[in-house]
Amino acid sequence: MIELLFLLLPAAAASGWWLGRRDRHRRGLRPASAYPDLVRGLNYLLAEQPDKAIDLFVRLTEVDRETAEIYLALGSLFRRRGEVDRAIRIHSHLIERPQLTPELRGLALFELGQDYLGAGLLDRAEALFHKLVRLNLQTERALESLREIYQRERDWQRCLEVTDQLAELIGVRHPAEVAHYHCELAEEARCRQDLATARAQIDLALAADPNCVRALLLEGQMALAAGESERALELFKRVATQGPTYVPEVLPDLIRAMESCGEDVIAELARLVGKQANPLLILALSERIEHSQGVPAALDFLADYLARWADLAVLERLLALRARAAGPDDRARHYAQVALGVARHLLQGQAPYHCERCGFQAQALHWQCPSCRSWGTIVAVLPQPIL
Ligand SMILES: [Zn+2]
Repeated sequence: MIELLFLLLPAAAASGWWLGRRDRHRRGLRPASAYPDLVRGLNYLLAEQPDKAIDLFVRLTEVDRETAEIYLALGSLFRRRGEVDRAIRIHSHLIERPQLTPELRGLALFELGQDYLGAGLLDRAEALFHKLVRLNLQTERALESLREIYQRERDWQRCLEVTDQLAELIGVRHPAEVAHYHCELAEEARCRQDLATARAQIDLALAADPNCVRALLLEGQMALAAGESERALELFKRVATQGPTYVPEVLPDLIRAMESCGEDVIAELARLVGKQANPLLILALSERIEHSQGVPAALDFLADYLARWADLAVLERLLALRARAAGPDDRARHYAQVALGVARHLLQGQAPYHCERCGFQAQALHWQCPSCRSWGTIVAVLPQPIL
């Protein structure tokens, strides 16, 4: 609790509570002795008795600007410490004070909304943030919080409505996020076989963000499913240009489209590898080479790649092929199998995806990072070049 008080000092100082008498007089503020209950409350905090402190604070009916700022700082500190019930008591008390200015009432309502969010009481938080928007108080922060709530609830239509309001009222636009909301709606429509709606949502995604790789991937997959291989291939090639890191996500579909269009799959995959060395792409290409040209050619291809890139997944493939290629009595088979065991052990500790913003490690691609909630920041972990 001591650190809580230290954190409160700047708020108290800023509010004039800690200022010297002359300065207080000059600023028309009341001396510390005018806040005996507040001082008693802070003493309770010092004595690690936060509930007694809060009981005392909520009995105080007179709240001026200085005390309101201390209440706000105290409430948000309780919330950050995970003590949401205490934060709710403080902020609820504050918003009931009739003498509060609209600005402070807006701040207190917003903080209470954050408390409800922290406690998982989304309905109550939602109602408070809507109230703030209606009152034109803390509008941008309230709308951003509503967007967060609707994202958690996967209510993409409402996410779009809130981003529209943000653009209209504040001038803040979120084109990448809007495109993802439309992609989410397109995927939902596709799941229920409503292909017309899915296509319309993809168009809206691309209208919001022409660089939305996810929309191109979706449209390509839908085109392939509808037998439009050339259209699918064209879209997948746009993905390879705009977001090569996402090519492996549709690799089987891409290879199917290439085969349907009579393309040289090995040459085309090699061209994509030239754009970006992605382990999944290398593995797919090595499989093709193995089937068409045999194991030695695949081994040469993998060894050539590993001479330039430190890539454990590809090393594992090379060792597996090497072990398979050696004769049953060959010592080289034994050595390759031992090395293969080590490579597989190390691979288990590696996440194939990570968030470029917060570093979150993932086993699968998420369009929205489960940790920092950013959109489009989770990408495949790419190998390091060997210098
Ligand atoms: Zn993240």
